[in-house]
Amino acid sequence: MGVLSVIVLIHKRFLLGSLLVFCCVTGLAAVLYAGLRPACVPAFAAQGADAVTVVIDPGHGGEDGGAVSPDGVMESQINLAVSHRLSDLLRFAGQRTLLIRTEDVSVHTEGDTMRARKVSDIHHRVEIVNATEGAVLLSIHQNSLPSSRVTHGAQVFWNTGEGAETLAGVVQDALNTAINTGNEKLPRKIPATIYLMNHVTVPAILVECGFLSNSTETARLQEPSYQLKLAAAIATGYLRCLAGEEVP
Ligand SMILES: [Zn+2]
Repeated sequence: MGVLSVIVLIHKRFLLGSLLVFCCVTGLAAVLYAGLRPACVPAFAAQGADAVTVVIDPGHGGEDGGAVSPDGVMESQINLAVSHRLSDLLRFAGQRTLLIRTEDVSVHTEGDTMRARKVSDIHHRVEIVNATEGAVLLSIHQNSLPSSRVTHGAQVFWNTGEGAETLAGVVQDALNTAINTGNEKLPRKIPATIYLMNHVTVPAILVECGFLSNSTETARLQEPSYQLKLAAAIATGYLRCLAGEEVP
């Protein structure tokens, strides 16, 4: 074997060895990537955080207090407190947010009767959401089930917008971990009767944070530390979803 042949052989061996190492590394990377990569990234996440505005809807407000506990605690004020905290946390994490209301007011634009103003309020909320480019809606509410005063915990509902069901799954998972320990809930599709959620043209979830028909939970829902815990769980779920996570 001449010197040239030896050099060619060494080159061949080196090339084969390099190719083998390259294949192993890329193969491992592919396996790891496939393991980490979500099967389906929601449309809003695929757009990138810069293109998305998280519209936060504190349900009810003003003369429309929403659900009321037996001792007079109104849903609208808890919704507002949780929404402010949620907006602050998401902004802290670099997200763009828009609060539909920042005070205890109804956002109606017309109406002579309370019913007319309520209709105007909900239509106006739909307009705000649909006019916001790249919007994802997080609607914040409190539940009430007077027939079962022990029922408690947070539950998420999704609309038919692309990625909303995935978002609901991850936010529910975050709430189950932070709030619903031993009382885990499944996310559900929003009933057809909820006007806002069925008339916005963007991915939307509605979070029922707790039950005002449960006196223990009502007390908790008024605590700033618990409101922060709720907001942190929702924000975490949103950010996990934005990063591509899915809950089977
Ligand atoms: Zn409500």
